[in-house]
Amino acid sequence: MSRVQDFILDEEDRRFRAEIRDFLARELAPRAAAIEDDDSWDAVKAVVHALGKAGYLKLMFRDLYRGWLTKPGLTHATILSEEAAAINYAFETTIGTALSCAYPLHRYAKDEIRERYLGDIIAGRTVGAIGVTEPSAGSDTSRLQTRITFDEARQEWVLNGLKRYISNASVADVYIMYGITDPGAPPGKGLSAIVVPAGRPGLSFPRRYTFMGRRGCVVGEVEMRDVRVPRDHILGEPGQGTRIMVSMFNFERTILGGTGVGVSRSAFKIAQDHAQTREVFGQKLGAKQLIWSTIAEMSWRIDAAELLTYRAAKLYDAGITGKELAKPAAMAKLVATETAVYCADKAVQILGGDGITKEYGRAEQLYRDARALPIVGGTSDMARYLIASTDLPTLKPNL
Ligand SMILES: Cc1cc2nc3c(=O)[nH]c(=O)nc-3n(C[C@H](O)[C@H](O)[C@H](O)COP(=O)(O)OP(=O)(O)OC[C@H]3O[C@@H](n4cnc5c(N)ncnc54)[C@H](O)[C@@H]3O)c2cc1C
Repeated sequence: MSRVQDFILDEEDRRFRAEIRDFLARELAPRAAAIEDDDSWDAVKAVVHALGKAGYLKLMFRDLYRGWLTKPGLTHATILSEEAAAINYAFETTIGTALSCAYPLHRYAKDEIRERYLGDIIAGRTVGAIGVTEPSAGSDTSRLQTRITFDEARQEWVLNGLKRYISNASVADVYIMYGITDPGAPPGKGLSAIVVPAGRPGLSFPRRYTFMGRRGCVVGEVEMRDVRVPRDHILGEPGQGTRIMVSMFNFERTILGGTGVGVSRSAFKIAQDHAQTREVFGQKLGAKQLIWSTIAEMSWRIDAAELLTYRAAKLYDAGITGKELAKPAAMAKLVATETAVYCADKAVQILGGDGITKEYGRAEQLYRDARALPIVGGTSDMARYLIASTDLPTLKPNL
């Protein structure tokens, strides 16, 4: 990548990009075929382990990081996400989930709970999962049905509910579950987040989904029937769930922006190579005006996605969080993920028949993988609501 393209990044960021690219070429690229062809979770997990061992899952935690970067942060986690997604999608979602789980543990868990669960996640020894979505509550998280009650006699939290579309369901070692602790509280005030270790009685995984792409990712349902955890497993205080969720979404969306850029770059490279080599009607395909124009469209969209993504990451690293970061993070996610869908689609089209076969590169794989991006981590529609709600502060969005 040229300096013109990634000019928001500084010399140290670029050095990090080169290092992580070498690392992923060694650890991820040789396993990409097993992940795609065999749907291999073991291959994904092996890379997560290598990544943790090398210290790359600590980028978000300056107090724990021990590497050479002077100011590690979301910028570097996003570079990691971008570089991984350029090679394989499944791996990115695993990093995203690992960090989304590690972050609230780091920031909101009681000391002993943080000690017990965080270390293994950021060392890549264990895997985390986040449970927000339910059958009747996707975009509309105010409709969550999961109930969390407190058993005074045993000093334990008791969880009941069904979560769906949970990444790493059944393979995770620790779950951060969101549910209602105070049903009578005003909207957004009665939600809490609880740490649930795998293996608790009452925790089960009724279903694993099959997707059109995203091979190697494990996503399924998590059912909780009287699942009990000790009192100290709550994150923050009861009722702080919404705040914890919003802070997590901001950086998760920025990391997903990185994924979108990575997928877009891979699709663009395939289209670029084909346009310059394929002969049609006595000329290279790319010399035809329609294709020329499509290449330009892909190119500017990728740059726009990249600029918005790293703007959000740099803002976060400069200390901008919460509501102030919500709009830049939503813009990064919206533009980068829509760009990924656009570029994957155009790459397939430019390749013609080759684009929809498994014999010619990864175009068809990128096309299948990219489609999830504007849905996961909050849909494009929800991102638009969030953006406009800060631009029209006197109006309430009609959701
Ligand atoms: C592969 C994958 C992995 C996931 N991993 C996780 C995970 O680890 N943890 C987790 O908690 N969740 C996870 N999710 C869930 C994801 O966050 C939700 O799918 C997403 O938020 C959308 O919710 P929904 O699917 O219920 O769609 P719905 O909320 O039912 O929406 C359906 C459609 O309607 C649109 N829509 C909704 N409301 C409006 C409105 N007011 N105006 C206009 N359009 C509207 C939406 O944008 C969407 O296009 C995952 C999902 C997938 C597909």
